[in-house]
Amino acid sequence: MKEIRIVAKVVSPILINEDRQSSNTISLDYIPGSTLRGALAATYLRNGAASDQVFRALFLGGSTIANLLPASSADDDPEILPMSVYSCKRHPGFLKNDIPQKDAAHGVQDMLALQAASRLSEKMAPSTQWECSCRQELKPFGGFWNANLKSPRIFRTSKSYNRFTGIDRLTGTVAQSIFYTSQSLDDSQPGEFTDKPQYFSGRAKILDDSLEMLRELASDSVFVGADRTRGFGELELSIHEYKSSRPDYEGWNSAFKEKLGEQAGADFYFAISLESHAILVDRFLRPAVDIDLCIADCQQVMRITKGMYIRGWNVAWGLPKPDDTGLRAGSVFLYRYTGDNYEGLVEELEKIRHAGIGLRREEGFGMVQIDNMIHTTIGGL
Ligand SMILES: [Zn+2]
Repeated sequence: MKEIRIVAKVVSPILINEDRQSSNTISLDYIPGSTLRGALAATYLRNGAASDQVFRALFLGGSTIANLLPASSADDDPEILPMSVYSCKRHPGFLKNDIPQKDAAHGVQDMLALQAASRLSEKMAPSTQWECSCRQELKPFGGFWNANLKSPRIFRTSKSYNRFTGIDRLTGTVAQSIFYTSQSLDDSQPGEFTDKPQYFSGRAKILDDSLEMLRELASDSVFVGADRTRGFGELELSIHEYKSSRPDYEGWNSAFKEKLGEQAGADFYFAISLESHAILVDRFLRPAVDIDLCIADCQQVMRITKGMYIRGWNVAWGLPKPDDTGLRAGSVFLYRYTGDNYEGLVEELEKIRHAGIGLRREEGFGMVQIDNMIHTTIGGL
């Protein structure tokens, strides 16, 4: 298995709706791994058959493609901000020293330790701790960032509305009173002087045998999303080397406990956050809203999650997949370990970090990050 990063440069605007229903025309602000996978599979199927060995290895078993998140250059390695991150209600955003005071954002803070401390002590945190330095309320601050604590930056996409007219099937001319709009992701982002190209970037794990085929598929233009016949959704893909690094479990535990304060005790803490939406089930395969860790002596301290319906389209069948219930990317789970087999715990956590959790992982669902460093930062970012 080889870890890579897939970078997509946007050539023409992309229409990816969150909903299958055409009435919902709000575009997603990332490219789901399953969408890219479907697009690559469709490109492949134009020349091959779904029963091919290569097709099976790349699309049906083993390989996973994560969501491609917005980035400002091909070198960025964007991540989703966990749901424990908050910012000022009036001036949200990361601190920046080079922006005049009046327009500057008031910084972001991770509230996981504070929330865990009030959970453990069964006492509400004083309301001043939920205030910005300007006395405004703190609000959840979501989005995609460069995962760089020294110089944090948020990545946003710009979007446009498109107007379409309907075509009368009988006459082939513009139909009266059929007019619709849809939102799309732009093919550029505002730069300092001129517009810059829009990039998306995501990690993937590809079986060694499939990598050559993926490179070949990526060498051609790939089309994702809706209205491809009108030229929407064209991407230029490139494949980059990538190596994920093992979290500093011990360092994270002591830094987090310091932030947690007197409530920490002697236990060992770790946090799991969802890098992509997850479809969780219990051991009887019933939908679940919690991770079934199956590690002895582990207790969940708290979780911050949001549920959702997950839809899908099966290219090989040409049919919609049944809807699944899932948890949104950015959901966070905090645990404490009361046992004394530290090596055994880390071994289990490393397995989870590599394999992910829940169903449909080959489509990029259930990817996790363990011990995100943002949880241990003190003060504003
Ligand atoms: Zn403020």
